[in-house]
Formats: sequence, structure tokens, C-alpha cells
Amino acid sequence: MKIIADLHTHTIACRHGFSTVTEVIEEAGRIGLEAVGLTEHGPGYPGSVGWAYFNTYRDIPRRVGNLEVLCGAEANFMKLDGSLDFTDEQLTRLDIVIASCHKECSPTGTKEEVTAMMTAAMRHGYVDIIGHPDNPLYPVDADVLAAEAAKCHVALEINNSSPAARPGSKPMCRDIIAAAKRYGTLLTVNSDAHYHKVVGTFDYALQLVIEAEIPPEQVINSSLERLHQFLSSRHGRNVIK
Ligand SMILES: [Zn+2]
Ligand SMILES: [Zn+2]
Repeated sequence: MKIIADLHTHTIACRHGFSTVTEVIEEAGRIGLEAVGLTEHGPGYPGSVGWAYFNTYRDIPRRVGNLEVLCGAEANFMKLDGSLDFTDEQLTRLDIVIASCHKECSPTGTKEEVTAMMTAAMRHGYVDIIGHPDNPLYPVDADVLAAEAAKCHVALEINNSSPAARPGSKPMCRDIIAAAKRYGTLLTVNSDAHYHKVVGTFDYALQLVIEAEIPPEQVINSSLERLHQFLSSRHGRNVIK
């Protein structure tokens, strides 16, 4: 299986990344990716940018050479009811939306509470990907999460930065992949790069997905056609009443 798009990257804009948007785009093109997602941390993350940043994506070209550029965000879970640090209207204006828990700004709770928080956001309809759901600080019921994600047509992320950023996440990551296999849940493999030379690095995450014998059809960024299919199925987006 080949991953042709890195849908989760950061830049200096969030103040804990080390490269510019230009460097991220150029590196993605240089290594032959077919698409890259600019998914800066949302305004809830201490030090990150406000809405004005995302609102000015109009100036970023959506194609650079053979590379497609998706202008999105990594939204933060801000409350246990599943609310994020963007309004619904703002979320509809982004090309791709990841929603993640970060200890700097997201509340945690019991396994039931964290799972319910993610479920609420998925059902609300504006989230395309749940970012790094393997975080031991945010326990989830892998089966409930995978079943809900499948129902909501949301992809669960297998994050290549998890071993470094979220120590102890591997067993949970394996559980999530196994549950995704049981429910046919869509997955996405991403770098979560905070430096441009890390863009397109998928070794750890891809190995876990391959070990579990997940077919490429289940990984939204394993072909450009699949990625387009996923995004077009999402956009409008899928609100479950
Ligand atoms: Zn970050
Ligand atoms: Zn994150």
C-alpha cells in the first residue's frame, strides 16, 4: 500500500512548528506526494492562530505543479459535549477538518465520556477525520468509536508522530485499527509533521496498518481517486440527525 497524500501537517504559524507553508508544499511536491493538507492547530490551542489565518487561505494555490493543496485545520475538542474551536460555518469553509484532543486545551474524562465527545462531533457532521485517537490521556472505546465513525463516514487517523508525541499509544492504536477492520471504518495515515522534512513520513503508522491487513480501499489517502471520493462524499457535509 502506498500513501499518496499527507493530510496532517503544521507550520511555524502555530508557534511550535519549524517550517513555513511554502516549505511544506515544496517538500510534499519534491518527494512526489499527490496531495498535502495544511492543517494548522485551531485557535483553541495556546499560541496558535485565530480565524483570520484560515480565512485568508484564499491566497494559497490549491495546485502547485502536480500537487494538490488542501487548506484545512486541526480543530481542538474544547468541551465534553463535542464542541470545537471553530463555528460550523467556519468548518464548512475549510477543505478538510481534523478534530483532535490536545492536553493543552481539551478536557478529558472517562472512556465513555471521551468516546461520547468524539461521537458527538462526528454526528454533528463537520469533522472529516478524528486525529490521533490513540492518546492514552484520552481513553476511547475502540469498538464504539470505530462503529460510529463508519456510520458517520468519518476517517480515524493512524498518526506517525504518536510514538514520540503520545508515549504508550501503540496498544490503543492497534486496538483502533483492529476495531476499524471489524466495522469497515475508514482510516487515514498521516505524518503530523511540525518540520517540513517530516512531511510524507509514514513508516510507523503504515506498518501497523499493513500488519493488520487493512486493505487499501479502507485508507482514504492510499490513492488520489479514493481521497477525492472521500472528500466529495463529505462535502456538504454528512450531518446525522
Ligand atoms: Zn502541534
Ligand atoms: Zn494533534
